[in-house]
Parts: sequence; C-alpha cells; structure tokens
Amino acid sequence: MTWKPRTVGIIGAGTMGQGIAQVCATAGLQVILFDIKTEQVSRALDLIAKNLSREVEKDRCSAEQKEKIVSSIHPAQQLENVKADVIIEAVAEVIELKQSIFRRLEDVNGADTIFVTNTSSISVTSIASEMKDPSRCVGLHFFNPADRMKLVEIISGDKTNPELVFKMREFSALIGKTSVETKDSPGFIVNRVARHFYTEAFVLESEGVAGVDGIDALMRSAGFKMGPFELMDLIGLDTNLAVTKSIHVGFKGAVRFSPSSRQQQLVDSGRLGRKSGRGFYEYREGEK
Ligand code: NAD
Repeated sequence: MTWKPRTVGIIGAGTMGQGIAQVCATAGLQVILFDIKTEQVSRALDLIAKNLSREVEKDRCSAEQKEKIVSSIHPAQQLENVKADVIIEAVAEVIELKQSIFRRLEDVNGADTIFVTNTSSISVTSIASEMKDPSRCVGLHFFNPADRMKLVEIISGDKTNPELVFKMREFSALIGKTSVETKDSPGFIVNRVARHFYTEAFVLESEGVAGVDGIDALMRSAGFKMGPFELMDLIGLDTNLAVTKSIHVGFKGAVRFSPSSRQQQLVDSGRLGRKSGRGFYEYREGEK
C-alpha cells in the first residue's frame, strides 16, 4: 500500500458512526469520535465493547485485542478537535449539517486531510460545494451493520480529485471492505434499487394484503436475510425515511419513490427502530 492513513476522525456516533469507528479501530487505526450529543459517544463505546466481548467469547479476538481496539477510540469534546488523516461524517441525512461540518473542519485540518461523507443518497457534489476546496471530498457509503457488511460504495463528486478514489480503494481494503465505484446519482446503486423493498412493503401493508410480521417472514423465507420492516428497524426509521425523501426529490418527485405517510407518523411519534427501543418491533438496549 503506497498511502496509509494513521488517524480517522468520525463525526456522528449513531448507528453508522459507531460501526465505522469499530471497523477502523479494529484495522489498527487511531479513531477520534465526536457527536453533538456526548452521551451518544459513551453509548457507542459501550456497544463496541459489547460487540467485541461477543467476539472474544467466540474466540475470534483475544481480550487483549479487545482492550487495544477500545482504547484506540478517543472521544473528542468539540468538533474542532477532530484533526485526522481521514474524516468521515456520519451525521443525519441533512445536507446543511454535512456541509457545515466539512466547512468547519476544513479550516482546522491540514491540506492532506480527506473529507469523506457516508451519505446514503445526497449528491457528493452538493455536499462538497460549500468547501473552500471541494476536490478534497469523496463519498464512501458503508452498509449497516458496518462492522459486518463487506460492501462500500465509493462516490466521486464533480470536483473530487481522482486520486481520492484510489485512496478510498486502498482505505477500504485496509479496513477489510470490498469497494465498488459509482456515479454521483441519487441513492447511488444499492439504495436506489433497494428503495422499493421498503416503499412497496408499506403499500402492501396499507392495502391490507399482509401484515408486518407476515411480510417480513415471507421475504425471509424467499431468501432475503431480513424482511423490509425489521430491516427498517435496524437502519433507523428516521434515517430510512430521510433517504427515501432525498431520493424522491433527487428523481424530481417520481411516484415510484414516494415516501410513506405511515413511516412519517412513526418517526414523528419517536418510534425509530432499534436505536429508540421500538419501531415495528420492540428491542432491549444493546440488542443487535
Ligand atoms: P443516527 O441518527 O443513528 O446517528 C446520527 C448521529 O449524528 C446522532 O448520534 C446525532 O447526535 C449525530 N449528530 C447530529 N448532528 C450532529 C452534528 N452537527 N455534529 C455531530 N454529530 C451530530 O444516523 P445513522 O443511521 O447513523 O446515519 C448517519 C448517516 O449515515 C446518514 O447520512 C445516513 O444516510 C448514512 N447511512 C445510514 C445507514 C443506516 O442503515 N442507518 C447506512 C448507510 C449510511
């Protein structure tokens, strides 16, 4: 490997930030983790420790390795303290948030720092557009759970320096992922194809064709790892809805990507899936 980062800054310690932090630390990188809610960082560290304890129980990792991994994740108290070779943002799917984070971090990081967005659907070109130097921004879309899913999509914006695509390929290999390159199109590849898995499931349920449990069970027995509703609980109903809305807007309101009003109601009532303890199903804290 010709280029090897040593430090990774991760902004957002929610569902994805936590998993990405675990993956990077397991690959031997020093991780700086920041979340606007400090309790999210503590929660992420607890979940990572729990995940690794399971690996120790299964003899896939030693107790010493577990301690080393956990101790290589350093919480940051302020955004501007995140200085690293690679900075990955994993905050909510809201363009203004992502733009402002990169804009602020661009001022305090060196010229070689790479700014990576884990957006599921937003244009990388648009996220980079507020930066002084948009050529330093690239998309690297992880899948959930990030510690287990092998695939990542690499997305170049209009101004992304082509060298960053090469570096993201190297970075993906370093953290044990298989990368594919995709154009900067709404939802990229996987989320665009998968959108109907969720939206059509809502239509089926609202028409009374089958219930939540029945649809999930049938899709599982048809060969899918998870049914659409349990998968939305894993993703987070708020994140999944934000991605549907973003793709819907990206395709100029195409009916085939219409968001579900039932999903909106669930999000408004705080039923966000596993992360809030209740979505379509109920969960205990720390359940994966
Ligand atoms: P999440 O809601 O679980 O976590 C987001 C975190 O960002 C929260 O802890 C929140 O406190 C924090 N945050 C919000 N504003 C912040 C700020 N200004 N500074 C620092 N932290 C801030 O969301 P998630 O599901 O992890 O999604 C994060 C990103 O990853 C989104 O862009 C999403 O589209 C993408 N993504 C999600 C999944 C998934 O399955 N959940 C998969 C791939 C990509």
